[in-house]
Amino acid sequence: MSSVQNRPGVWAVGDCAEIPKANGKETYAPTAQNATREGTWLARNVNAVLRGRVPRPFRYKMLGQLALLSHRRAIADLLGLKIEGFIAWAIWWAIYTLKLP
Ligand SMILES: Cc1cc2nc3c(=O)[nH]c(=O)nc-3n(C[C@H](O)[C@H](O)[C@H](O)COP(=O)(O)OP(=O)(O)OC[C@H]3O[C@@H](n4cnc5c(N)ncnc54)[C@H](O)[C@@H]3O)c2cc1C
Repeated sequence: MSSVQNRPGVWAVGDCAEIPKANGKETYAPTAQNATREGTWLARNVNAVLRGRVPRPFRYKMLGQLALLSHRRAIADLLGLKIEGFIAWAIWWAIYTLKLP
């Protein structure tokens, strides 16, 4: 998430913005996890700029990934902890349900 070069007042966020990994070579996959966090950061930065302050760079740390495999089975990698099966599905279900507006 950042302001677009040579385009004052234009910001890129979500799938329109790349988030570089620490190695500087790769970027994170465009996901809703990234987009929602970037959105919050973008709001703060736009607010800061409108008040004459300097925007702060977006720093990203992936919290984890979840994938549904089948009925009540999933895999999860949460902060490096790998889980599979029903417990992973229950976490997947809880997180996705909580994130629904
Ligand atoms: C099949 C699929 C599965 C996915 N599964 C996951 C997942 O499990 N977990 C995860 O984290 N991410 C997942 N993603 C990725 C995630 O959906 C995107 O990264 C996220 O939605 C990006 O958010 P965004 O706000 O950048 O874009 P979007 O959510 O695409 O929002 C852009 C919005 O802009 C609107 N729009 C477009 N053009 C115009 C226009 N000219 N004028 C006005 N409005 C316009 C669109 O209608 C849309 O509502 C999945 C994506 C796909 C396609």
